[in-house]
Amino acid sequence: MDKVVSLCKRRGFIFPSSEIYGGLGSSWDYGPLGAELKKNVKDAWWREMVHRREDMVGLDAAIIMHPRTWEASGHVATFHDLLVDCKDCKGRFRRDHIGESCPSCGAKNFTEPRAFNLMLKTHLGAVESQDHVCYLRPETAQGIFVNFKNVLDSTHRKLPFGIAQIGKSFRNEVTAGNFTFRMREFEQMEIEYFTRPQEAEDCYQQWIETRRRWYLDLGLSPDRTRLREHARDELAHYAAGCTDIEYEFPFGWSELEGIANRTDYDLKQHATCSGQDLRYFDPVAQERFFPYVIEPSGGVDRATLAFLVDAYHEEEVKGRTRVVLRLHPRLAPVKVAVLPLLKKNQDIVTMARRLKKDLERDLVCVYDDTAAIGKLYRRQDEVGTCFCVTVDVQSLEDRRVTVRDRDTMRQERLDAQRLKEYFQEKSLLN
Ligand code: ATP
Repeated sequence: MDKVVSLCKRRGFIFPSSEIYGGLGSSWDYGPLGAELKKNVKDAWWREMVHRREDMVGLDAAIIMHPRTWEASGHVATFHDLLVDCKDCKGRFRRDHIGESCPSCGAKNFTEPRAFNLMLKTHLGAVESQDHVCYLRPETAQGIFVNFKNVLDSTHRKLPFGIAQIGKSFRNEVTAGNFTFRMREFEQMEIEYFTRPQEAEDCYQQWIETRRRWYLDLGLSPDRTRLREHARDELAHYAAGCTDIEYEFPFGWSELEGIANRTDYDLKQHATCSGQDLRYFDPVAQERFFPYVIEPSGGVDRATLAFLVDAYHEEEVKGRTRVVLRLHPRLAPVKVAVLPLLKKNQDIVTMARRLKKDLERDLVCVYDDTAAIGKLYRRQDEVGTCFCVTVDVQSLEDRRVTVRDRDTMRQERLDAQRLKEYFQEKSLLN
């Protein structure tokens, strides 16, 4: 883990937030390469979950919602952790994260557990009073439920169909740590998939498989990915089933995403609290009912971290350690680096610059001439760039360039005009 964290800082994937002021607990900023990687994760999700399906639509709801939303959802009453303080060393812990004795000093001298609500509060308007209290959403899901009717009326969808959303969520997490695995401000990618009650179980099973496949198709190792079905006593009282997709991080097996069968609980709650009829009307059966909902709920940051950790490899090449990020081409922040072999040769530079200009229309591409070629290759390997294209003296005569593959390090000479076609074959273009 330390190696990944250090690479992230050194190469501009992830920085501690507000670092010049000493950083802020559990807050992280994505640097130039991290922003690209995270965007690619979200794009891959949106493309597969929304654009490539007939039964899905997207949504982008506000972060600050009507406070009654959180009463209806149960977050005001029950979204809390139980905290205990160690009376000896003054450490503070989540009750469900520790055993009998204090993890810091070993004492068994705790305070009584206290409930700590995880929602972050803010105030709207000029006057700070209890009447104006609002929350930063702790999940994106409720933005979907409150818009269920709007989406239904504006898109004329028939069951089953789903609504997908990606966006920031906030939780005042008590126990932080493990890099970006648990943050106070993070991004979620959530789906609420509405279905007939009698079809909900099948749908739930299908979503577990669809979501598992998504992670595997983007390169997560199958042997470090597993499903964990929740036991009956772990389920919320309204839930008919819940399965986590877990990944084996260096700090142990941990949740990447949860897929839950939430029955008709949420829509019923919002119908009761808002007084609006949120039932679905079935024109064939001529009946109104509350659909069941299957919720695949994943974290963008956790997925990004898993892809990074999984991609990180060190190998011996000619007696030296090569660090390479074997990211899936769809996720790699940079697809191609164009490198001039001699930066003082104006003709080589012109040809390389021209190639870069041409390629950047179709894929994310960089130009780099700040070091000798061996070093440039290593730098690109370390950030997961799929291919390097090198222009040399010979290229000026035969218009051929050297293309080097990140994973195999194999080099081949290709006609510069064929590059785009070649990268298309390698799935670097859409
Ligand atoms: P945990 O048990 O780890 O606190 P959770 O079960 O409370 O997670 P959910 O409420 O199911 O998480 O949220 C859905 C997804 O959102 C999680 O699977 C995770 O990927 C992501 N997520 C939740 N909390 C955080 C956080 N504090 N930081 C980063 N991602 C988070």
